[in-house]
Amino acid sequence: MKCPLCGLEFKEEYGQSACKGCAISKSCDLIKCPNCGYEIPREPSFIKSLKRWKEKKYATNRKG
Ligand SMILES: [Zn+2]
Repeated sequence: MKCPLCGLEFKEEYGQSACKGCAISKSCDLIKCPNCGYEIPREPSFIKSLKRWKEKKYATNRKG
């Protein structure tokens, strides 16, 4: 994923580990950018799959 603030691309797991020490909850819904510390709301998996599906559809449309 890409940080909207500094533009750094990093793995989601990498960002999660940055928020491991969250005092409020262990499983924070935010992903912290390892570079600038900006907290990005995590995309729910269903939105992710929806996006993928959309991209797939778009790709096939472009082909034909
Ligand atoms: Zn950043």
